Amino acid sequence: MQFIDLEAQYQHLKEKIDARIHKVLDHGQYIMGPEVSDLEEKLAEYVGVKHAITCANGTDALTLAMMALDIKEGDAVFCPTFTFFATAETIAFAKAIPVFVDSNEATYNLCPIDLEKRIQSVIAEGILTPKAIVAVDLFGLPADYAAIEALAEKYDLKLIEDAAQGFGGSINGKMAGSFGDIATTSFFPAKPLGCYGDGGAIFTDNDEYAELIRSLRIHGKGTDKYDNVRIGVNSRLDTIQAAILLEKLAEFPRELEARNKSAENYKKTLSNDFITPSVPDNYFSSWAQYTVRSNRRDDAMKAFQEQGIPTMVYYRTCMHEQSAFSNLNYKKGDFPVAETLSSQVFSLPMHGYMKK
Ligand SMILES: *Cc1c(COP(=O)(O)O)cnc(C)c1O
Repeated sequence: MQFIDLEAQYQHLKEKIDARIHKVLDHGQYIMGPEVSDLEEKLAEYVGVKHAITCANGTDALTLAMMALDIKEGDAVFCPTFTFFATAETIAFAKAIPVFVDSNEATYNLCPIDLEKRIQSVIAEGILTPKAIVAVDLFGLPADYAAIEALAEKYDLKLIEDAAQGFGGSINGKMAGSFGDIATTSFFPAKPLGCYGDGGAIFTDNDEYAELIRSLRIHGKGTDKYDNVRIGVNSRLDTIQAAILLEKLAEFPRELEARNKSAENYKKTLSNDFITPSVPDNYFSSWAQYTVRSNRRDDAMKAFQEQGIPTMVYYRTCMHEQSAFSNLNYKKGDFPVAETLSSQVFSLPMHGYMKK
């Protein structure tokens, strides 16, 4: 069996996807073709925000969000230590300092209590300017936005939602991608909504940020294509990828239901042997990963492997343990929950085409 069965999905959607790709080959507008704006409209509608702006990948989406929020040298940006590297990487790439935060043991997401402690110690130190929070919807579950938004307001911080894994999730019906000042996602093939290469998107209700990001993603263009009014980047979603995503987005609600059925089956079957993920009331997960915990992880993974069931570890190394961040002088023990999680978690197969 496959960890993520992209082949089964393609077989299911083959005719529609092939027709979409051929349509692009026929019209030949490979860059910023009509499928791109069509997709952006449908994404904005799905997420329930005013603006969806596509770009080249989820990492660029974060970088563009940070450019729009003017995150720069001397700023402190808070993010979970238990996440994918890009969350912290893009903070450092903007020349700001990532300040890591411990996780909640039940949800694996950013712990608001530890977040407030870390904000207060940056303020007490008086060296960096506390500027923003990047919250991550880890493994498909939206972060605790009620608590995080309250802290952002209390300390006058901007909030970015990294929904690279969270797309399709929700809290009380409010969709992932609609939280914070700016939200970002990734269409990397293994994400809940993936294309056939790299892709990403940025979501916001703020007209100014949207206009800025639309300019920044195309070399800081002004209203005249050849007058560049600021320094930007080249980060567009290919028209072919947008065409593929239009078909995949149409199928996505059905896949989400299937993913949630699989998660229920896992919980029923596994909960005596493993700590299974917990979803708070009124939260809906898109199950980017089905991640369980065991204090005998290696044995457990081997046992699954012997049954022909592939498993993966996301993530074995927290951000504060990454060589690239050794200059920040964190040490083992600084983030007890995240360190426990990274030593115990592993993920089981999850996709919208699983057989029981
Ligand atoms: C995948 C991922 C990203 C980066 O997305 P890419 O499209 O691979 O650049 C950022 N943040 C998180 C949490 C991710 O899982």
